[in-house]
Amino acid sequence: MDPCQAALSIVKELREAGFQAYLVGGCVRDRLLGKEPEDYDVCTDARPDQVEALFPRTIATGIRHGTVTVIAAGHPVEVTTFRVEGAYRDGRRPDHVRFVGRVEEDLARRDFTINAMAQDPEGAIIDPFGGRRDLERRVIRTVGAAEDRFREDALRMVRAVRLAAQLEFSLHPETEAAIRRMAPDLARLSVERVTQELEKVWKARRPSRAVASLFRLGMMKHLPPFHRWDLPSFPRPPALDALDGAASRRMRWALLLHLCGQKPEEAAGRLKELRLPRRDAEEIGRLYRSAAAWPSSLAEEEGKRRIFRDGIGFCREALELSRRMGVIDEAARLRQVEALNRWNGEMPIRRWEELAVNGKDLIDAAGRPAGPWVGRTLRILADAVILGRLPNNHQLLIKEGVRIGRDATADPGDDD
Ligand code: ATP
Ligand code: MG
Repeated sequence: MDPCQAALSIVKELREAGFQAYLVGGCVRDRLLGKEPEDYDVCTDARPDQVEALFPRTIATGIRHGTVTVIAAGHPVEVTTFRVEGAYRDGRRPDHVRFVGRVEEDLARRDFTINAMAQDPEGAIIDPFGGRRDLERRVIRTVGAAEDRFREDALRMVRAVRLAAQLEFSLHPETEAAIRRMAPDLARLSVERVTQELEKVWKARRPSRAVASLFRLGMMKHLPPFHRWDLPSFPRPPALDALDGAASRRMRWALLLHLCGQKPEEAAGRLKELRLPRRDAEEIGRLYRSAAAWPSSLAEEEGKRRIFRDGIGFCREALELSRRMGVIDEAARLRQVEALNRWNGEMPIRRWEELAVNGKDLIDAAGRPAGPWVGRTLRILADAVILGRLPNNHQLLIKEGVRIGRDATADPGDDD
């Protein structure tokens, strides 16, 4: 059973139990566009406890707000009771919700006309706000007065820009004008919600559309955490275009920092402000630093050492990022991609684990206690193997390692 059939089976079961139930929101929109929905949402007049009682496998996702996750054939589907909501005063979730009896009331609290449609199992669409018309015209338009809707929840402004990029739609002029007026309200948002939307932007074919809008509509200077940064008033056009077609999410984060004028050394800290997981922030920071200092020509030895130290994947990514940042030109990139691939193919070992000798082998063979000489010797051996100066042969590397270790110890000023 695919996720869509799973969601429909939930709708049918609710209906057989005497409730109203529909597919709703993004999945209806995406089905009408002929796109595969990210996730499926169901709305119903059944109360959360009634939903829980009806299905054997449920998770109490947001009971107070009316949401129960039902697991059908292994697929999680959010089932939400028809509701209307108060303002999002804390910038996170509505202060209060009230359950209601009619699907139209529920649709009215949704953000955009194209997200405010419901569909029954026979395929009939409930569309009180002209969502289908706006899908045809490819516009993002709020349900009701844009300013009021943005005052209730400022995230909707970010969602508007995100959806416009994701669907390659434009903003309705009234929606756009309201964003310009209401942008200062963005300051109340939690960083987590902003970052979640940006992660969705990175999946779009052209993320530059969203980032350009954030600047053009005056949103960036109010948006946490960017409002605390020293930002350009508008990024230089090549920096923006570089976002499109970047092969990875990590590059897109790095490019965002770049076009926001943030230095490579600041990157990891900035990404932590954006609440990215620590490891992720540090990896992206490392990538950005590497790309910012990427040389326009790379000698074979240096290239092979980089492949061994960072991995070929990281090198390819840093190289592409460096080109996108305008650090190296396209001719240099092409030369280096080709060279890196060739070197990677030639290298007898690409990771430490592949070296035919380890620290314990060396200690045993030398009959000496462990000490800094071990790591130093291994580095010399690995370097020689990588560059093809020694074969990756166990016996030979041990012999050579013992000799290097002895010489190193004989060296005055050695510290082991
Ligand atoms: P995606 O394709 O990324 O899943 P989506 O439109 O489905 O986009 P979700 O965050 O999954 O976005 O939200 C599901 C639905 O809930 C939306 O289509 C919309 O109807 C409603 N919704 C979500 N966030 C808000 C909000 N902040 N204000 C009003 N309605 C919202
Ligand atoms: Mg969705």
